[in-house]
Amino acid sequence: MQPLAAMTWEEARDAAGPGSIAILPVGAIEAHGPHLPLETDVIIAGAMAREGGARMAARGAKVAILPPLTYTTAAFAHAFAGTVSLRPETVTATVTDIARSLARHGFGAIAIANAHLDPGHLGSIEAAVNAIRGENGLAVAFPNIAAKPWASRLSDEFKSGACHAGQFETSIVLAERPELVHEATRAALPPNPASLSRAIKEGKLSFQEAGGPQAYFGYPAQASAAEGRATVEILGAILDEAVQAELNERPDR
Ligand SMILES: [Zn+2]
Repeated sequence: MQPLAAMTWEEARDAAGPGSIAILPVGAIEAHGPHLPLETDVIIAGAMAREGGARMAARGAKVAILPPLTYTTAAFAHAFAGTVSLRPETVTATVTDIARSLARHGFGAIAIANAHLDPGHLGSIEAAVNAIRGENGLAVAFPNIAAKPWASRLSDEFKSGACHAGQFETSIVLAERPELVHEATRAALPPNPASLSRAIKEGKLSFQEAGGPQAYFGYPAQASAAEGRATVEILGAILDEAVQAELNERPDR
């Protein structure tokens, strides 16, 4: 398992071919409460990619981890400073072009590691997946962790929909990049049980409309690095299982 960007072109040529899997971590630059960095979703996607890739490599796959896609659609957080939001069609075109390049060079599968749940973002990636799946026989895995069957494996807070910069995400950043957590602020944050996923279903369009005036939902004060490590293992298993399911549909890869 190697980072693609660190390879020479000859190493990348050898990393492709039958049984090869390229993993694309996809995050966002988006407000995550007063206690977490804007790159929180990039950190989570990178951890998911690393853990999932290790599982795939242990099964004998050739795994290359791509540089993360750090910019995407983040419309819900757009009012908060530092948030960068691309138009959905820009994201669809970018992911489509990345996948086509990799398919041209013989990668058999692409796995998209993602924990950013903005509906515009999910739709833009889904559109790219639909465009590229099966092109040149390419297998594409994009598990939506907020949907069946994956969500049932994650925490109660996550399933409640109060899942932005709360206990779930804060725990992962505490495990992966503790120096980036504003610890005194985190420990004193009151709970915000407002369900972001319910607000999205009701047609709300921003964190403020959804009841998150500080860009967080859930229970960040209850976060722990131990929970974060356990969650990263589950996210990695989800990515690996999603890839296996795709490859079973395309046994020639
Ligand atoms: Zn997030």
